Amino acid sequence: MNYYSATQIHDGRQWLPEGSMIAFDDEGVFRQTYAAGNAPAGVQPVHYEGILCPGFVNAHCHLELSHMKGVIPEGGGLVSFLKNVMFQRNNYDAAAREKAIQRAIAESRSNGIAAVGDICNGTDMLAFRPGSGMHIHSFIESIGFSETKAPERFAYSEQVYRQYASQAATTHHLAQSIVPHAPYSVSPAMFALIDRFEPRSLIAIHNEETEAENELYRSKTGRMFELYEALGIDPGFFEPSGKSSLQTYLPQLAATHPVILVHNTFLDEADISYLQVAARAVFLCLCPNANWYIERRLPDITLFAQSGLPICLGTDSLASNHQLSIWSEIQTIQQHFPAIPLETLLQWGTLNGAQALQLADRIGSLETGKQPGLVYIDAQKELHPLL
Ligand SMILES: [Zn+2]
Repeated sequence: MNYYSATQIHDGRQWLPEGSMIAFDDEGVFRQTYAAGNAPAGVQPVHYEGILCPGFVNAHCHLELSHMKGVIPEGGGLVSFLKNVMFQRNNYDAAAREKAIQRAIAESRSNGIAAVGDICNGTDMLAFRPGSGMHIHSFIESIGFSETKAPERFAYSEQVYRQYASQAATTHHLAQSIVPHAPYSVSPAMFALIDRFEPRSLIAIHNEETEAENELYRSKTGRMFELYEALGIDPGFFEPSGKSSLQTYLPQLAATHPVILVHNTFLDEADISYLQVAARAVFLCLCPNANWYIERRLPDITLFAQSGLPICLGTDSLASNHQLSIWSEIQTIQQHFPAIPLETLLQWGTLNGAQALQLADRIGSLETGKQPGLVYIDAQKELHPLL
């Protein structure tokens, strides 16, 4: 048994009372919390000056884009970012892409990340999932602007999905589901195919990442047409709904699908009210460093924190971030929204992420039987994974 104490211990939900001690067995399984003064006789815990918390959960990443680190200039806005990704991602050979994925996995682990919600457009991650040392839910992402090509595009996603699904789980949990990339890049026909494929599957979707997305749905105006033009797509078929993007597409997914809404940079009070009565499982996933990189703007995180909706954190890819670290995302939120307590932010980065990825029976909190990992944050705010 290994015993730990610290200046502060966060159990995934809240700070433990001062003087608490925690115990993990030699396999890294969490066993017990001891209140101050209740330690078994003769036990001397290893003490840390700083914070101990469970391993982090990166609820949104694209490990397959790791080779694009530093390629795309900052602050150009989402439409130009997407054009850069689409036109440049294939300018690298397999060896370069693989090396970058391996580096990104090692970086994630050294940043105390226990699980990743990982977007995949293809099979680049297949070889790396089983040995990653992390739980991975692979979101096989469908993109298809045109109604008529939806069956063909979906068939490709299904073929990719089958390859991931055929992989046997290791000591870590591996899961996968087919998901829509974003509302503006997925036709209603494709939404219907995704919805019906697995009625209870976990969905993640890039949501309201740019104002252009809402402009398109409300009035068929805005910068999204630049993207369509660059891709040679005629948006003539598109009918504006007069509503926000979220309120237009979400009803196309049955309420049996839990949904992780990613980014939410332009999600507003009306959308929050809509989600509060939507009678479905929804998580808001925030990727503040990526939002700052791409749009030079952060979501209204204070509003979200007050909404009662569950919030989790992601890094997005190295194409729009300088590191893959949930602790760095937490520090960015602290800088811009100092009123949100660290206690809350650590819950977003641990237990809430585990719940969003349906992994809360294994990781995310210091509860008996879980193997959540253990992270030490020292007095200089440097992070050290311990388990
Ligand atoms: Zn993303």
